[in-house]
Amino acid sequence: MAKKLRHIFWVGLVFGGICLLSGAGPATDPYAAPRQSMVDLQLKARGISDARVLAAMGKAPRHLFMPELLAPMAYEDHPLPIGSGQTISQPYIVALMTEWGEIKAGDKVLEVGTGSGYQAAVLAELADKVFSIDIRPELAEQAAKVLKSLSYSQVKVKSGDGYLGWPEQAPFDAILVTAAATRVPPALEKQLKEGGRLVIPLGQAEGVQTLTRFRKIQGKLRPDSRLAVRFVPLVEPGK
Ligand code: SAH
Repeated sequence: MAKKLRHIFWVGLVFGGICLLSGAGPATDPYAAPRQSMVDLQLKARGISDARVLAAMGKAPRHLFMPELLAPMAYEDHPLPIGSGQTISQPYIVALMTEWGEIKAGDKVLEVGTGSGYQAAVLAELADKVFSIDIRPELAEQAAKVLKSLSYSQVKVKSGDGYLGWPEQAPFDAILVTAAATRVPPALEKQLKEGGRLVIPLGQAEGVQTLTRFRKIQGKLRPDSRLAVRFVPLVEPGK
């Protein structure tokens, strides 16, 4: 009997040690399972195929970028409010914009519309440097705080008018605009590198817009992918 008990003790000790070392166990991240389902059912199943994008979406803790009360809904298939009348996009749209951006290690990326900071975190999983601007100082501040607490040190956030881009850091390999614009802001076109990608929802603020991916070829923006979407409006000059 004593021998059997000793055996159980040792098996338990070894198993516990393995769990601790691998970080396994239900206590580590209660959102790991819903996040993986999101990747499988909302992203892979709908055609997001870039393995690096899927891995980034499987890693960035979306539930930490929203008010605590909404965290249980973080991995559901819809946008959520983040305060100041703004929203964090649906996971599929974040993944699609990232895939269309063709973000590679070493890239310098600009995001216009920091919001919660979640899209910036996903970009930071893939790129070396991410610059993100929000016109609402309270959102920029809160996003910077969360990104810092999660050690996303590759992301720099500032509050300002993203319509003007971030000239001191230009040119960029990719630019993602996460608010709906009536036209491509001229500064963003200028700040995109040759061969660079610009992903932006274009159309009127009230209604459906067209998420459009442009590539800069011989100095000119050429559209090559489109999807109907609905975004909160970009603050544009004179509006
Ligand atoms: N990408 C965000 C969601 C963005 S919501 C996320 O992952 O959570 C759109 C954001 O665009 C809002 O936070 C809004 O304040 C910002 N915005 C609107 N007009 C802007 C402008 N001209 N310059 C910078 N940010 C702007």
